[in-house]
Amino acid sequence: MTTCRNYYLDRVGGEFTAVDEQLPAPGPGEILLRTRRVSVCQSDVVIHKVGLPRIKRWPALILHEASCTVEAVGDGVTKFSPGDLVGLGCDIPCGDRDCIYCGDHGTGDWTSCPKTQATGHEYPGFARSHAILPKWFVDLGPIVKFPPGTDPAHACHLEPLACGLEGMTRVNNCIENRVVVLIGAGSQSTYALQCCQAMGARRVIMVNRGAERLNRVLRDFGDQRTVGVAWDEHVVERVQELCRPFNEPHFVMMNAPCREGYELSVKLMGYGTVLDAHAGVKGAGGKPRIAHEVDLNNQVHYQLQCYQATHGSTMRGVALAAKLISERRLPKLSLMTGADERFRPDQTLAAIRRASSSDSLKVIIDWD
Ligand SMILES: [Zn+2]
Ligand SMILES: [Zn+2]
Repeated sequence: MTTCRNYYLDRVGGEFTAVDEQLPAPGPGEILLRTRRVSVCQSDVVIHKVGLPRIKRWPALILHEASCTVEAVGDGVTKFSPGDLVGLGCDIPCGDRDCIYCGDHGTGDWTSCPKTQATGHEYPGFARSHAILPKWFVDLGPIVKFPPGTDPAHACHLEPLACGLEGMTRVNNCIENRVVVLIGAGSQSTYALQCCQAMGARRVIMVNRGAERLNRVLRDFGDQRTVGVAWDEHVVERVQELCRPFNEPHFVMMNAPCREGYELSVKLMGYGTVLDAHAGVKGAGGKPRIAHEVDLNNQVHYQLQCYQATHGSTMRGVALAAKLISERRLPKLSLMTGADERFRPDQTLAAIRRASSSDSLKVIIDWD
């Protein structure tokens, strides 16, 4: 028996309450995990603030960006051994082994499955010290093993990185040796900047409204190819100047969850530009329609413009993120978390509050 400490969120806007439970040894095909680090996603901040229809069971176990150590494995498990450091994705298979998206012979596009589920939403999250993963999760789900010596505080960035990399690689050849524009300077743009550097982008132009956050990100993560641009009335001309000798960016990643972000992004579309509509816009009135007219002949066919997006992450993004972390090609990840952004598990509420402030890039809860 293992004593597992859970921190249940009692209700929207509520508190986290500690509840201990006894876990049995993992059954055939299952694994027992011990939580090491959990980072707070902006979606957790939103769940705490206004809830999420996908969470049907309250009190709820939220949080999904986790790195864990394998404590024990059940009979028949060969992929993992006790002591392995693993990272987990948020979007997970539906559990039906015959599913055409998530099953043994599925496409792996589990975010397209009508029965899609995610950790910290329908499936219990990682506001808990231990978890037993069922056989279908172990066999098919987004769980990867890191090489010995990997920092658990790097490994917990797997999921948000995977989501960004899905969007950056859905279309081939738009990062390496290319000009990339990142709209927004929050955590997704900061991850994208580090991935652009690891993937060999030619230039990265980061656009943000607030100078303070932009300057912090440029100071801590910038290099000679990175430039910041203030999001004011001259932003389009300024970005175009910085694309020279090209007339336009090759890739625009829209990471600012607001209508104005989309309005700016379409003004930057030129010859061959790929737009990754990465941040969805959602308000109290639901998901607003943001209309834009595209000429399918002149803009899409002749100018090769591409409008695309991804949702969450599949094994493809998780594997790309795991590779970058394992090969230590994202050495600045830990700079995303300031000294006042590290919390103990019994401070989960304080961690969520810290993550909700505009100067926070990544809050981490340390279970060690
Ligand atoms: Zn996340
Ligand atoms: Zn499915």
